[in-house]
Order: sequence, then structure tokens, then C-alpha cells
Amino acid sequence: MPLHQKDDVRDELLDDVYASSDLGQVMPKYKFPKEQHAAEHAYQVVHDELMLDGNSRQNLATFCQTWVDPEIHKLMDECVDKNMIDKDEYPQTAEIEARCVHMLADLWNSPDAANTMGCSTTGSSEAAMLGGMAMKWRWRQKMKAAGKPTDKPNMICGPVQICWHKFARYWDVELREIPLEGDRFTMTPEEVIKRCDENTIGVVPTLGITFTCQYEPVKAVNDALDQLQKDTGLDIPIHVDGASGGLLAPFVEPELEWDFRLPRVKSVNTSGHKFGLAPLGVGWVVWRDKEDLPDDLVFWVNYLGGNMPTFALNFSRPGGQIIAQYYNFLRLGIEGYRRIHQACYDTAHYLADEIEKLGLFSIIYDGRGGIPAMSWSLKEGIDPGFNLFDLSDRIRARGWQIAAYSMPPKREDLVIMRILVRHGFSRDLADLLIEDLKRCIDYYERNPVVNKGNEEDSGSFKHS
Ligand SMILES: *Cc1c(COP(=O)(O)O)cnc(C)c1O
Repeated sequence: MPLHQKDDVRDELLDDVYASSDLGQVMPKYKFPKEQHAAEHAYQVVHDELMLDGNSRQNLATFCQTWVDPEIHKLMDECVDKNMIDKDEYPQTAEIEARCVHMLADLWNSPDAANTMGCSTTGSSEAAMLGGMAMKWRWRQKMKAAGKPTDKPNMICGPVQICWHKFARYWDVELREIPLEGDRFTMTPEEVIKRCDENTIGVVPTLGITFTCQYEPVKAVNDALDQLQKDTGLDIPIHVDGASGGLLAPFVEPELEWDFRLPRVKSVNTSGHKFGLAPLGVGWVVWRDKEDLPDDLVFWVNYLGGNMPTFALNFSRPGGQIIAQYYNFLRLGIEGYRRIHQACYDTAHYLADEIEKLGLFSIIYDGRGGIPAMSWSLKEGIDPGFNLFDLSDRIRARGWQIAAYSMPPKREDLVIMRILVRHGFSRDLADLLIEDLKRCIDYYERNPVVNKGNEEDSGSFKHS
């Protein structure tokens, strides 16, 4: 538009965003746009589309952080240009990452916390890959030294998160996943020992199982492996998947022995963006001792006259999450984390009691002996006019996202619903949720679902 057409130009400048010519048309979806758009117009379009994602705080299926302090928003903004891999350009970010590693090592009772190894990752999945690789490397070194074949490594676990299936497939390790049996939803020492042999690179107990939220018995497994070594000479290490529990148990159940207090625990991963309360995109893996991370997995980078070890799958990565994690450690300390997590546990217990009172459900996990969450199934032999997938669907109408899913192998018949109680899910919100659940049950009483299999036929949920 020529500038001398003053009136039209003026109109354009004064147009309301929604009356602009940019927003008077549909934006391209799968073709690269030909023309540019005004920043505030493009912003409004993207901002508006994100409304359809729903409200993350009502997503009770995720383990990940959905509420952060205003200070974290500020720090994230200040760090938007920091690449954590550029350790010479951003030496303080690198220093802060290292401090977090040592703080975690200390929290997890490493015998030499100030000198051990560890690193940040994008989340527990990458951290699990690194922990798993270190186990495989150590095993291979040991087997080679003994002149034995190294082509059939295996790993033993209970009902693990998907990242361990990925680890096993990507790195060619046989996954010996202990199937569920009846009401046993975790590994037991006996089931672990049955599966051990000289090709076992390690055992991976989960501190906070994705499906039921329970902790696996790390100490009992540690002790059984001690006995196995006495009986057979097999020396099998443990890596703990502490994605959730790694940043819960030390604060809320400090007497629970699951960490480096147990000599067999050689490494631990955790998700900073779950109960570490950091924004999405940070995890951690820490080794018990420097010696537990094989040298040839570490790449040494010279910078600032020092020699910096790096061990990661990724190269460039944002530094803000690491900074925000450090902020949380400073801001909260052991006391602050304990208070936040305890409030969540109390709410989980409250929800378990209230949901039990509804009379239709068996509580599978009530928030005791695991992470702040609760889960339930429909009572056997009753027909309330809906199944849990229907309930999940109906409660979504009020914005609540609650996962309904079937259990892992050998108990696929059991469908459960699970609620994660996270920072920011107050007692008051819990009460509103109970009211909404009652409303749904009422609705189905009046309008029973006619054709209900035990199948998920509406939107699908993922565990994360
Ligand atoms: C969430 C979770 C993972 C994966 O962690 P991300 O941080 O999402 O990559 C692995 N293991 C367990 C037990 C989990 O709960």
C-alpha cells in the first residue's frame, strides 16, 4: 500500500488485531508462508491456538511440573540465550550445573559427593540412557578382562517406564522385565535373583513406578544381590530410576535406604522437571563414585585452562532449566521441598479417602509408600453404567485430564485411573475435583453407556 494513501495506512495502524487483514484470513498450516506477518498478529494467532491445548494444571496425568514461581519465569527469560554446552562462553552456567550435580550426590549420600561425576540431561530418559550405557560398558570391560563373550547383555527390571525399553532396543540389551502377578505390581528380590546371570549388566529398580506410583524395594534387592554374590560370585550393580522418587524420598522419607548408602547402587537418574520442581527440560544422572563412570564414555573438552568432562547424547541445550533448578535448590532447601511435597501427600491421602467413599472404586494406591499420587479401579462385579475410560472422557468436559489405562503384562485385564498430586494442586482444587467426579457418576447413572467394552475408545493419554 503506497504511503501517500495516508488514510488507509492510518486505518491499518489503528486496526484492532482481529480486524487486521492478517487475521481476516486463515493462516497456512502445512505450507511455508509466502509473506511475512506483523509480530503482534502472528503472536495472537499462535497464542489463541494454544488455548486448545487445555489447562496444564488440570492435567492430573502428568508427573511434570506445571506451576513455577514468578522468579523462575524471570530467570528463564534471562537465560533464553544461554547454551549450556558452551562452557567457555557461559562458565557460570557450567559451574552452576556442576554444583547441582554435587548437591544431588550429597542429597543421595554419595561417599565422596564433592568429587563424584554426574551431569544434567534433557530429562530422565536421556539420563537413563547414560546410566544404562555406563552399566553396559562396565560389564563389557569386566567380561573382556575375564576373556568371556560380550554379545548377550541383559538388564533386569520391574514394570519400567518406556525409556528403558528404548535403552534396551537402541543399545542391544535384552530387557528382562519381571511381569506383574496378581496384586504384585513391583519387582521382588526373589524375582530379580531368578533372572540374574553373568550377562546381567545391572538391575534397575524404579523409585515411583509409572503405572502404580509405588516404590520398588531397592534395599531388599541390594541385600539379595549381596547374598547372590556370596553364593555364586556374581557381582551385579544397581541403577535406580529415581525419576520421581529421587527428589521425593530424601525430603519426605529420609530414613528410606534406596540411594548411595547401599553400596550396590552405582548410579541414579532423576527428572528435575518432575518433583525437582524445575520447568520442563531438565534431568540428572549421578554416579556413586568417579570410578563408576567408565573413562571412555567421557569426552574431555579443554576450556579456560581447565579440562571439562562431558557425557551427553545432545550437544546444544538451553541453560535456563539448569539455572532454575539451582534456584529451586537454594530457594527451598530440604525444608522447603519437604513442606511442598508433604502438602501434596496429604492431598493425595485426602483424595484416596474421598474417592473410596464414593463406593464404586477400589483404591489401588493411596499415596503411601510411593509418590504423591493415588490410583483406583472399578470394584469387581459392579456395573455403575460406565467404565474408567468413559469416566476419563466425561471428567474432561470440566477440563480435568485423568489418565485411565490398562496395566503392564500379565495384568492387562486391570484398568486403573491415576491422579498425580503436584505442586499447585491445592486441597481446595481437590475438593472441586471430587464434586465433578460425583457429577459424572450421577450423569452415567441417568445415562448409562450401552456399549462398553474394556477398551479405550476416546482420546488417549500418555504417561509422562
Ligand atoms: C517420567 C519418567 C521417566 C522419563 O523421564 P523424562 O524426564 O520424562 O524423560 C523415566 N522413568 C520414570 C520412572 C518416570 O516416571
